Amino acid sequence: MKSFRKELWFNVPARRGFVNITRDVEACLKESGVTEGLCLVNAMHITASVFINDDESGLHHDYETWLEKLAPHEPVSGYSHNVGEDNADAHMKRQIMGREVVVAITEGRLDFGTWERIFYGEFDGRRKKRVLVKIIGE
Ligand code: ZN
Repeated sequence: MKSFRKELWFNVPARRGFVNITRDVEACLKESGVTEGLCLVNAMHITASVFINDDESGLHHDYETWLEKLAPHEPVSGYSHNVGEDNADAHMKRQIMGREVVVAITEGRLDFGTWERIFYGEFDGRRKKRVLVKIIGE
């Protein structure tokens, strides 16, 4: 069995943002040489997510609005976590959007549904953060 590990680094210039990382993960798959197996992609930070959905800007705007309703950033003082920091909402947004995805690898390709793409979701940006890609298989 082959095993491949790589860290992808991101520095989203705003507090929040979504980044399509599908091509980065596909590059990892090519580098791994695995043609049949599984690919795990996870955020290595508790205020960021990795998720799969549509690459459509209207949907991403809707996510932003929806997440802000569920866990508004302001008022910062409304959260017990915010003692010396202001990112309680980012922890909650991360929880909702998820930590990781697993994608099947078939015949050397990520075995997606038609509109599935992999995204990095940043909720407390303006600093360098990592995503782990782990690929196992033959
Ligand atoms: Zn925090």
